Amino acid sequence: MIRILVSACLLGDPVRFDGRAKTLSDPRWGRWAAEGRLVPLCPEVAGGLPVPRPPAERQPDGRVVDDQGMDRTAAFQLGAQRAVDAAQAHGCALAILKEGSPSCGVARIYDGTFTKQPLAGQGLTTERLKAEGIAVFSEGELGDAARLVEVLERMAAEA
Ligand code: SF4
Repeated sequence: MIRILVSACLLGDPVRFDGRAKTLSDPRWGRWAAEGRLVPLCPEVAGGLPVPRPPAERQPDGRVVDDQGMDRTAAFQLGAQRAVDAAQAHGCALAILKEGSPSCGVARIYDGTFTKQPLAGQGLTTERLKAEGIAVFSEGELGDAARLVEVLERMAAEA
């Protein structure tokens, strides 16, 4: 069984900083859930942060700071580790994470100035998962993720 770690907010959990979800409607969620593939997790909540919470952004010096000036790096790092632990405990070969987040961003984050300026980069959790050899896709890359699931299932069946 190829399992998939998923940003919980994409599956409708209201865990974002503003207390809302970012539900992605796609028929593949229902199929994958019925197959028992999905492992939902919010790294920021897993790292001990509350809902709601002040928005935070990665800084050029590597820290994660919220818009009140509080250094939240330790909680973000703990959340990233918890995501790796969950992925390994459930045997997740891939992850589908929410683009733009300082934890879950895959190709884009924000520049640390809280002025909505996007920046090429990835979240702490994405970095840690990739370092462990787990493929990470954004919610805009669901087709690529589905193709990888098919390939891995075929390989497992032929092994
Ligand atoms: S940390 Fe990830 S899962 Fe949690 S709310 Fe932010 S984008 Fe969603």
